[in-house]
Amino acid sequence: MERLGLFGGSFDPIHLGHLLVAQAAREELKLDRIFFILAAQSPFKPESKPTPAIERLKMLRLALVGILWAEVDEQEIQRGGVSYTIDTVRHYANRFSGAKLFYLIGTDHVAQLPKWREANEIAKLSEFLIIPRPGEAQSQIPAPFRGEFLKGFPLGVSSSQIRARVKADLPVNLLVPPPVAEVIRNNRLYL
Ligand code: ATP
Repeated sequence: MERLGLFGGSFDPIHLGHLLVAQAAREELKLDRIFFILAAQSPFKPESKPTPAIERLKMLRLALVGILWAEVDEQEIQRGGVSYTIDTVRHYANRFSGAKLFYLIGTDHVAQLPKWREANEIAKLSEFLIIPRPGEAQSQIPAPFRGEFLKGFPLGVSSSQIRARVKADLPVNLLVPPPVAEVIRNNRLYL
């Protein structure tokens, strides 16, 4: 049975925290593949205007070059509007019927899970892998969701911190893969 990781996010920009937890998830859960699913607009960040998808996609693709188990999924961008996890998980359940699905989320999202659209349906179709984030207390996974907590690699990096550092003219080249730092610089993102 194929074991697939689904990693949704704004990835604005993708950073080493994302990549390290994806690697940990693959190793700890023996996942065959992990799909990085770029959100058009997160329902939980309605006030935020993300960087245009074309630039976030470019950074995502460059960050994943050479990582054979990682794939970019553009379906939420193609659907447009607010991105709901249920639509994406249903897509995977149909496309890979018989596969086991694991949806990755940071500890910061666990308490909100019951508020996700069609929560019961999502809980039936996918397990959850909870990513540790430094400074976030581990809370129980609320019913009816099922899942487990990853061990590695908690890294206190966030996209908002990276955007703030660029704005403050501080270096970000040690927080993102080198080609991502180059896109940020060349396209004058986050200034
Ligand atoms: P922002 O700072 O803009 O809110 P973010 O860094 O949390 O962004 P997202 O693209 O929103 O990045 O994150 C996608 C998923 O990855 C979320 O489930 C988030 O909790 C998780 N995540 C992000 N950064 C880390 C990190 N350093 N360690 C573990 N999980 C992370």
